[in-house]
Amino acid sequence: MTGEAVSFDPERFHPERVAAALADPARLAVLDRTGLMSSEPEQAFDRWAALAARALRAPIALITLFDDRRQYLKSVIGLEGAEPIRTAPAQLSICQYVISGASPLAVDDARDHPQLADHVGVVEHGIVAYAGTPITVHGQPVGSLCVTQQEPRGWTAADLALLGDFSDAIAGEIALRLAAGALGRANALVAAHNRIHELISADAPLREILDEVVLSIEGYDPRLRGSVLLLDAVLRTVHHGAAPTLPPEYLAKLEGLVIGPEVGSCGSAAFHGVEVVSADLETDPRWAPFRELAREHGLRHCWSFPILGAGGDVLGTFGLYGSAPREPTEEHRRFIRDAAHLAGIAIQRQRATDELVHRATHDPLTGLPNRTLLFDRLTHALARGRRSGTSLAVLFIDLDRLKLVNDTLGHEVGDAVLREVAERISGCVRPGDTVARFGGDEFIAVCEGIDPDGATVIADRIIEAVMAAKRGAAGGMSPTASVGIAVVPGGEVDAHEAIRRADEAMYAAKEEGGNRHRHGPGQAAEGAGRRLEVEAALRGALDRGEFHLVAQPVARFLDGSTHGVEALLRWTHPELGEVGPDEFVPIAEETGLIDAIGAWVLRESCAAIADVHRATGTALALGVNVSPRQLRHPAFAAGVQASLSDSGLRPERLVVEITETALLGSDPATAHTLAELRALGVQLVLDDFGTGFSSLSMLKERPIDGIKIDRSFVAGLPADTSSGAIVAAVVGMAHALGRTVTAEGIETSEQLAFLRALGCDLAQGYLLGRPMPFAELEAWLTTPAVGKS
Ligand code: C2E
Ligand code: MG
Ligand code: MG
Repeated sequence: MTGEAVSFDPERFHPERVAAALADPARLAVLDRTGLMSSEPEQAFDRWAALAARALRAPIALITLFDDRRQYLKSVIGLEGAEPIRTAPAQLSICQYVISGASPLAVDDARDHPQLADHVGVVEHGIVAYAGTPITVHGQPVGSLCVTQQEPRGWTAADLALLGDFSDAIAGEIALRLAAGALGRANALVAAHNRIHELISADAPLREILDEVVLSIEGYDPRLRGSVLLLDAVLRTVHHGAAPTLPPEYLAKLEGLVIGPEVGSCGSAAFHGVEVVSADLETDPRWAPFRELAREHGLRHCWSFPILGAGGDVLGTFGLYGSAPREPTEEHRRFIRDAAHLAGIAIQRQRATDELVHRATHDPLTGLPNRTLLFDRLTHALARGRRSGTSLAVLFIDLDRLKLVNDTLGHEVGDAVLREVAERISGCVRPGDTVARFGGDEFIAVCEGIDPDGATVIADRIIEAVMAAKRGAAGGMSPTASVGIAVVPGGEVDAHEAIRRADEAMYAAKEEGGNRHRHGPGQAAEGAGRRLEVEAALRGALDRGEFHLVAQPVARFLDGSTHGVEALLRWTHPELGEVGPDEFVPIAEETGLIDAIGAWVLRESCAAIADVHRATGTALALGVNVSPRQLRHPAFAAGVQASLSDSGLRPERLVVEITETALLGSDPATAHTLAELRALGVQLVLDDFGTGFSSLSMLKERPIDGIKIDRSFVAGLPADTSSGAIVAAVVGMAHALGRTVTAEGIETSEQLAFLRALGCDLAQGYLLGRPMPFAELEAWLTTPAVGKS
């Protein structure tokens, strides 16, 4: 039989049908997997071609492969001489018709053939006889084996059968290679997965594990380039996770991308939690905003697989890019899902560890670093300070009245205040500084590379911010803070000592009434100049007669009658002018000058009030402020007794005002003095109640006759409901224990009315009378109430 019987099928020569057959995606997919189009010539194929030529006694044999546009001559036998052309347009080849027919083609004499007579091979190379058979792999004709010669030949069925056997052998070889390749890749993938499991159980850094995951898929299919994006579930943004082979400039553009239903492949996959395959970025509408970017980096497809947590929550995405339009195969999908699953395990594990570490190092209420982390950071900061020769500041911040808030308004309000204050303090420091919660109502800020002046600025900012928390915190509570500052040169002390110094300074700030800052001892702090100046001026002030006393009336709520006065100390220095007691009393305390000054105050005020009694016939109570240090002096009670007997003032008319800090510790000298004072029969009241370490239990435990509610509580009334609630609770408790309550700092009649309604006993404030010289008291007492103040 001749070849014409099998060859003259007009269908197979129709140009459009030929093109369609070459472009069949199923065929191209198999061809693609063989990788032969881009392979080098190989001896194995040359041997088959040579064998076919010999068996069929033909001078020329070719093994060619076709994609949709080109043919590649894998083996060329019999065209000796110059290195043969290996690739050519598909249209120039007779073999394309073998592919388009997917069956053998035999031509006895091409010159007689209507479609082949003017073919280049025929015209230019004089090839007239041709026989070719398809190489069919996985059911697809990926190429052909042909033999040709320059003389006409009557091909027999036996010739074609023989040629077909060679084609099948070649196809078998290719299929075997494919199977081996797939097996190899699968093995490599399994090995990679084992490695990744090991990394996960060894707690390797997440970045390293995710890199391995990406590389495992890239190893499986070298044309893919992968990226893992991590989802921030709160912000709904994605962030770089791993992408070892993608250009960093490209990744930078995706950083922080907000996900959405139609945002690229990964943004959409993260949004919906499903696989989103963009086989061609040029045509996928989801890619419109990123198309230019993708083009710039030669990216043409992106398949995105969601990375899911155990509960089905989206943790991130695994995106696979390639430089040509492409769909993933089923095998791709399977392997990529496996890889995404592994990535999910690694991410969850990392998050769990992060969470544990965070919990171990942060305060659950405020989210701030806890003591553990603080010590760690401070230790490192001190070490850095030593190396760089710079100093750092430790600010010890204590809220002045949190215990009272908890006692009276409940812990929920206290917690809200703490959270609010924590946030505000954090806003006062510089980026990189640490703010930690140290204890119940204590915070610590660590500021590196700062001098005392800088630390002062931050401390003042914190004090302001804490006061401002009133607006935000539950119930309009108005907290204040005492801040102790220790500026330590790096390397000089350890973390414990640095904190201890700041604590000591905080305590000093608190002793002075709170809502202020103090520097630790021996520090060249801001204001130190002034402080030294005041201290110098204070020495000898008593001898020079620079002090005088003023009296501020204290009235009864019941009927508005005058109950007594509080003696307040005034100092006028020839150069410094008027210096307020808030400024000089703490210095007098620290230097010990307060003992002599305080004794003078007692003597003078007792004498003065006795004079008023004699002149007006009105017996008034006399409040005298006494510092903690005075109470520790063994001769204090004796001095009081002397003042009383010298002036003739009855002991029960003398009200000794002490501060909470004096009552705090269990100092035996103080306890002794208090017992002596009680024995004398003088009254003891707790001044500035609510500003310091107060708690309601303090009222119960201490031997005091009354309390003076600090004016900061009164200031916000009646609008500030928390202050109102606190005052109400304190009055209730005090009365239950038989203590009198004085409200200080009453400036408005609304405040007066409110405090009267709450049941306060005594009232003091500018509304009722400003502090005045004792000499003016007589006239004031005899003025009708309407004209007063
Ligand atoms: P303190 O014992 O709480 O005295 C009340 C302070 O509140 C006085 O300030 C008084 O002038 C002020 N004040 C009274 N009514 C009002 C008002 O309606 N509005 C406002 N804004 N303020 C009012 P001052 O005289 O400046 O005294 C401050 C502190 O200095 C005293 O607070 C006391 O702790 C201390 N201090 C004063 N004199 C002595 C003293 O002789 N010895 C000792 N150890 N400390 C003293
Ligand atoms: Mg007082
Ligand atoms: Mg007071």
